[in-house]
Amino acid sequence: MPAPTQLPPELLTAIRRYWGFKSLRPLQEQAIRAVLGKRDSLVVMPTGGGKSLCFQAPAVVRGGLTVVVSPLIALMKDQVDGLTRIGVPAARLDSTLNANERTTTYEGIRNGTTRLVFTSPERLVNTDVFRMLQNANTHTVAIDEAHCVSHWGHDFRPEYRQLARLREFFPNASVHAYTATATEQVRRDIAQQLNLKNPEILVGNFDRPNLTFRVLPRLDLVSQVREVIDQHAGDAGIVYCLRRKDVDEMTGSLKTAGYKAVPYHAGMENALRRDTQDAFAREDADIVVATVAFGMGIDRSNVRFVIHAAMPKTIEHYQQETGRAGRDGLPSECVLLHSGQDFLSLKAIIEKSADEAQAAPEYVVASIKHLDEMAKYCRGALCRHKALVQHFGQTYDTPNCGACDICLGDTQEVPDAVVVAKKILSCVARVKESFGIAHVIDVLRGADTAAIRQRGHQELSTYGLLKNVPKADLRDWIYQLIGQEVLVQAGDEYPLLKLNAGSWTVMNGKQTIRLIQLARREKRSGSATPGQPFALPAGADAELFEVLRKLRRQEASRDGVQPYQVFPDTVLAEMARGRPTTDVALRRISGVGDARLRDYGRTFLKAIIAHCLRTGLAENVPLPKITPAARAATAPALPAPKPSGKKDIAFKMFRTDASIAEVVYKTELSPSTINEYLAEFVRAEKPKSIFRWVPEDVCERIAAAAEIHGTGLLKPVFLELNGEVNYEAIRVVFAFLETQA
Ligand code: ADP
Ligand code: ZN
Repeated sequence: MPAPTQLPPELLTAIRRYWGFKSLRPLQEQAIRAVLGKRDSLVVMPTGGGKSLCFQAPAVVRGGLTVVVSPLIALMKDQVDGLTRIGVPAARLDSTLNANERTTTYEGIRNGTTRLVFTSPERLVNTDVFRMLQNANTHTVAIDEAHCVSHWGHDFRPEYRQLARLREFFPNASVHAYTATATEQVRRDIAQQLNLKNPEILVGNFDRPNLTFRVLPRLDLVSQVREVIDQHAGDAGIVYCLRRKDVDEMTGSLKTAGYKAVPYHAGMENALRRDTQDAFAREDADIVVATVAFGMGIDRSNVRFVIHAAMPKTIEHYQQETGRAGRDGLPSECVLLHSGQDFLSLKAIIEKSADEAQAAPEYVVASIKHLDEMAKYCRGALCRHKALVQHFGQTYDTPNCGACDICLGDTQEVPDAVVVAKKILSCVARVKESFGIAHVIDVLRGADTAAIRQRGHQELSTYGLLKNVPKADLRDWIYQLIGQEVLVQAGDEYPLLKLNAGSWTVMNGKQTIRLIQLARREKRSGSATPGQPFALPAGADAELFEVLRKLRRQEASRDGVQPYQVFPDTVLAEMARGRPTTDVALRRISGVGDARLRDYGRTFLKAIIAHCLRTGLAENVPLPKITPAARAATAPALPAPKPSGKKDIAFKMFRTDASIAEVVYKTELSPSTINEYLAEFVRAEKPKSIFRWVPEDVCERIAAAAEIHGTGLLKPVFLELNGEVNYEAIRVVFAFLETQA
């Protein structure tokens, strides 16, 4: 049967009615078409991309049954609870059902009322459950977390291998696989292992534009973690640590400092682990300190920050773990704290566990290659969004993402990076590519060591060329060159620095190089206004948002559901902005379907009306027009201002002390444009202070340099300050100084 070109109207109606979504994301539409057309498919979408709707929505509008295979009971339970709440007949078959529940489930399947049934691979393949499902006219089989079938993936489950037999069991059903793991190898493996017939392969956009990525050297771990948490007062977040003992230590330090943090790792008793999960889901706990074991069964969509206290093992893991932030599409932050030590610790862990499990040597080699890619990401000076998207085989054309440490200017460019790079590379050449990082650093810094004397390296022309650069910086730059693939680290036990073709293009002046100085950040941009929840759009009332959050917790605990099942943060944020006071206005919010309106509409409307009465805030404020470019496919369309009025909006936001990053986010303009607006704003409106945007000490340094060089040109001041202060800051301070003249 060919796939229908248009989606049937009843499907769109059902999506509006049950889920309250106003539109489908581009890939969802294609994925749903494949299901309706009974064409096998493999759908790859990042976490939070909206995979579940792809098999849930078609199931609702057709007779017969959709069987969903899922690896974890927690995941199944979550989806079934969610569906039941919005009025979709769904059930699960797993070991936790009691006799009564099982009878009801069987009954629903037999009499044809149940539209979706969730089960585990073991149950489906090893019991005779499939017979009953065959008889119930199963037309669709959906396999969630399908990468579990591949041992190349990061969550291989042998039971998934047996799913190849589904074809025999359900010869008339189409099979659809869903995963967030995108590498080509895993993709091929899934299609092959599951016996997919001429599958339609749909790969979503892997960028998560609402996430701000930062990578920082780990200096003082606990205080760095606290700094991030403090920026997100009242928000939910996860702190990932490498080992169980790190989890316990971090939880202890945070608790001592007065934070409500709870631990989670595989070594804890089941009951305790469940307590942590439940408390987090119920929003009784907001900060979870965890090993990677935490997350797969978690569907809390308003996680606002994810901190990595150490480098993860692979970029895939990193993508999955950071993917747990901002699943509702609202701005969220991911901070990775790393040190050169992480690579070695992880390598040791991999080797030890491979040894214990007697794993094949290829496994170790592959794991270390993954580790190496991750380390390169940390050291790279490339836009983080671009680096991540490219890792997953996609291109990224936005010149400035406005949402990573590199593009936001958190880091400082090393002046004359090309010259520095040439010095490093020629030193590697001079020592004949036969030494490791430590020795090359010693030579460049002109150290007096036995190794240098023995080999006469003090005679080299590159000896002492970078005498004044601190060791840590130099090491960092070398890693950045490796990250930019103009230098290689080769060999296992004693890795040596080697040149490659890229090295020569740099030395011949045919390629430019960027180096960044991580440790000397002057300021943190992109953080929320203190006291303002991170995710709120402009115009939203923070106090009302808090009131609604509290109300949501009450309603959820009364009904024994999770808070997001009452309303997700996106809906509360929009309530706090638009302040609807009628059913019709409330229903207009994306995510408010019939069931939710019926169950909770009245209560929330009452709270909004009371709040507006008390504070005098306007009610029923219409949404600004949405620009077509608004956000990529993964994020729900948020209200974005009209291009013509963007400068006005920027000015308005600056008046209320919004940060540059907030204005970038709101207007979708580049940080450099916003910086220009800020300078204009300062000139025009002469604010009393600009410390909100340029920290006091930086202002002082720029002002001092301007006394020598004047405010005519930016460059002399930039050079005077050794390139340690960026041009944007200088421009803003100049504007300020002019208003003072
Ligand atoms: P995944 O399984 O891919 O990680 P989910 O299916 O859990 O993602 O969906 C992620 C979030 O996106 C959920 O909060 C869901 O309600 C929301 N969502 C999915 N599809 C849409 C849509 N078309 N419009 C608005 N929100 C959506
Ligand atoms: Zn960027």
